[in-house]
Amino acid sequence: MLAPFTAGWQSMDVHPLVIEKSEGCYVYDIDGKKYLDSLAGLWCTALGGSEPRLVAAAARQLNTLPFYHSFWNRTTKPALDLAKELLELFTASKMSKVFFTNSGSEANDSQVKLVWYYNNALGRPNKKKFIAREKSYHGSTLISASLSGLPALHQKFDLPSPFVLHTDCPHFWRYHLPGETEEEFSTRLANNLENLIIKEGPETIAAFIAEPVMGAGGVIPPPATYFEKIQAVVKKYDILFIADEVICAFGRLGTMFGSDKYGIKPDLVTLAKALSSAYVPIGAVLMSPEIYDVIHTQSNKLGIFSHGFTYSGHPVACAVALEALKIYKERNILEQVNSIAPKFQEGVKAFADSPIIGEIRGTGLILGIDFTDNKSPSDTFPPEWGVAAYFGAQCQKNGMLVRVSGDSIMMSPPFIITPQEVDEVLSLASTFQLREE
Ligand code: PLP
Repeated sequence: MLAPFTAGWQSMDVHPLVIEKSEGCYVYDIDGKKYLDSLAGLWCTALGGSEPRLVAAAARQLNTLPFYHSFWNRTTKPALDLAKELLELFTASKMSKVFFTNSGSEANDSQVKLVWYYNNALGRPNKKKFIAREKSYHGSTLISASLSGLPALHQKFDLPSPFVLHTDCPHFWRYHLPGETEEEFSTRLANNLENLIIKEGPETIAAFIAEPVMGAGGVIPPPATYFEKIQAVVKKYDILFIADEVICAFGRLGTMFGSDKYGIKPDLVTLAKALSSAYVPIGAVLMSPEIYDVIHTQSNKLGIFSHGFTYSGHPVACAVALEALKIYKERNILEQVNSIAPKFQEGVKAFADSPIIGEIRGTGLILGIDFTDNKSPSDTFPPEWGVAAYFGAQCQKNGMLVRVSGDSIMMSPPFIITPQEVDEVLSLASTFQLREE
């Protein structure tokens, strides 16, 4: 198997970690070894790995209607019900329609097509460029990898596509100037964005896309006043705002959506992952009434919105997602996340005085740790030392799975994590302190 995002030396021929079963926040490999899954799979198994109601919802749907599509004005009840539920749930701005996909990447590809179609319909064929941010992650299809701001996704693939521009990563600790406050840093980044728009020509810029908290780029919450200032710029030049909520939605940050937490009022929203707690693949795009109205009223003139996937609105995926949303509500998942998050955040942040840790940052149930020398973002360890990789491997050896990327380690446990399990995370992560006993 050619495994995704896997280095040659880690190829599947050399001792891959083969996971066989899951139970709550834990997974087990084929030798029966137990691991605390501190990343919830890939930031997605929000309800852990053994929620019987999700399994029952899938089985019920498989026994009734395992598949029907949603093309040509034919659809299924789970798809209609899920669309209605999502539109009610998202309240940061008004959304009027949902487009279903199978993944976050497909959803972001669909965003680009929707926006291009919208501008073509409005007679603005030159307004096509997208602005994303350095270090963002929006997926790995051609378009979503182009939007992503991670060089590894571009190298050797002739990406990013020329219609994508990247602006600053809002990581305050790493990129602020000496003496600059968070507010001043946000103002500088908003000015840089405005300068980029002016340089390119506002009439060529269609949309700006951002994760409320950057995930794969290292878990980077926005600095104070950042989204307020960025949104003002985007609005000024009639540029659409896309909130990529693939990681942040459904409670990860302690609010139902990242947009709620940071006062983002998007025109379009991308969802996936916790939408079904990852039990089956599903993604979705939410769009504002303004966008849908243009697409709807112009489709006679321009031709229908000819885009979709065989499995758009797959009934089993929609039935599982509906059940996941029901569980989030019934179990008051926001209260659960907000009650456990301080123990998790404060517990890990207590390791911050370790001489090899530069910064620990996070919010809700998502957290990133940067390893550096001298507490300084510029004193990175030589890549060949593999400092984060070493600690990641230590964690795995000791029974916890974390995400390693460059000099960072990231965690985003299932929403159902208990205080005892957080204690276990803290005990297993305590090796990062590098204190002599
Ligand atoms: N957007 C964000 C913010 C993500 O974190 C991811 C995946 O991690 C994606 C999009 C892509 O989603 P998928 O892997 O389901 O295609």
